[in-house]
Amino acid sequence: MGREVEVVVIGAGQAGLAAAHSLRRYFEPETGFVVFDHNPRPGGAWQHRWPTLTFKTVNGVYQLPDMPVPTPEESAPVAEVIPEYFAEYERAFDLRVQRPVSVRAVESLPDKRLEVETDRGVWTARALINATGTWERPFWPRYRGQETFRGLQLHTAQYRGPEQFTGRRVAVVGGGISAIQHLMEIRPTAASTHWITRREPQWRDGEFNPDRGREAVAMVEERVRRGLRPRSVISVTGIPLTPEVRAAREAGVLDRLPMFDRIEPDGAVWADGRFIEFDTILWATGFRAALDHLAPLGLRGPRGGIAMDGTRVAADPRVHLVGYGPSASTIGANRAGRAAVREIRELLAT
Ligand SMILES: Cc1cc2nc3c(=O)[nH]c(=O)nc-3n(C[C@H](O)[C@H](O)[C@H](O)COP(=O)(O)OP(=O)(O)OC[C@H]3O[C@@H](n4cnc5c(N)ncnc54)[C@H](O)[C@@H]3O)c2cc1C
Repeated sequence: MGREVEVVVIGAGQAGLAAAHSLRRYFEPETGFVVFDHNPRPGGAWQHRWPTLTFKTVNGVYQLPDMPVPTPEESAPVAEVIPEYFAEYERAFDLRVQRPVSVRAVESLPDKRLEVETDRGVWTARALINATGTWERPFWPRYRGQETFRGLQLHTAQYRGPEQFTGRRVAVVGGGISAIQHLMEIRPTAASTHWITRREPQWRDGEFNPDRGREAVAMVEERVRRGLRPRSVISVTGIPLTPEVRAAREAGVLDRLPMFDRIEPDGAVWADGRFIEFDTILWATGFRAALDHLAPLGLRGPRGGIAMDGTRVAADPRVHLVGYGPSASTIGANRAGRAAVREIRELLAT
């Protein structure tokens, strides 16, 4: 089945829905624009987050345009509340997300249209908004000896809460908020925990300052403008020292070790010869942008990233990436969705 539309949106997380909400003002759903999402139900990546990630422990979820997020109990899991909110949003604005639909490849046609190949047929469009997030591309670094490890290795993407770690000796690798939350949850019932990071963690004291937030976003923006791989916004804002994090530091839960030199069957060895025994490695090492389906467009440059101008791919004005680099937060995704639609309307008018 082949269909022609003006704009295809790939992904119905915060970024895709914000873009669709803007598109809905100018185009008809299904004939003017279409949204594809790989997940079987609304919620984007939130539906896969671990049950112990609640409104108390999450960083802060910013509402989608024109509809407030419900104010649930602090103990409510985001994986339940946000998918319901997204479902309501899709209904209220008649966004008609098509799911489950996987986009396999996007190619450029000789007539300058884009061909979007999915597992449910082929669509063509004049412009594309890519909002595929990062959840589907967990990043597993490789270390010497990793294949010899006899214990359990898992990634944040597979974390389901502390029960999995009861009685285990756990090494948590990674310097971000996920690693800290895992450690704080696991420590009370694990036999032991160790926190291992490449760099010294950057703690952020005091209230979040919007100027520092803007500075951090600008730094990530500058990287992607130069065609470098984006860093997460949190990697430049630092880790907030909440009362819980302070207490965990005082209790020794967040004493950090530098990176090991190699992994052995029952633990790891450091450059100074120290050996620490553990039976579980939890890789809290983040995610990468899920962009494999865009490979046929040849957007990646020699510096490993895609050079961007705002949300627009510098080398191809038909393609916008939202929820990418500086817009990889719920608030950033909203702005990016709006900005992408504004530029696409200008492009289509020429
Ligand atoms: C553990 C964790 C906690 C976070 N906490 C916060 C927080 O508290 N506050 C905050 O602002 N941000 C937070 N973030 C960042 C947050 O994920 C983003 O801000 C935002 O929710 C991501 O939205 P998105 O629309 O870009 O991606 P997603 O929510 O990942 O949505 C992408 C959608 O695209 C679909 N998709 C992917 N590939 C394809 C394909 N080929 N074909 C079709 N569909 C496809 C996916 O199925 C998915 O539904 C967190 C991230 C993580 C990993």
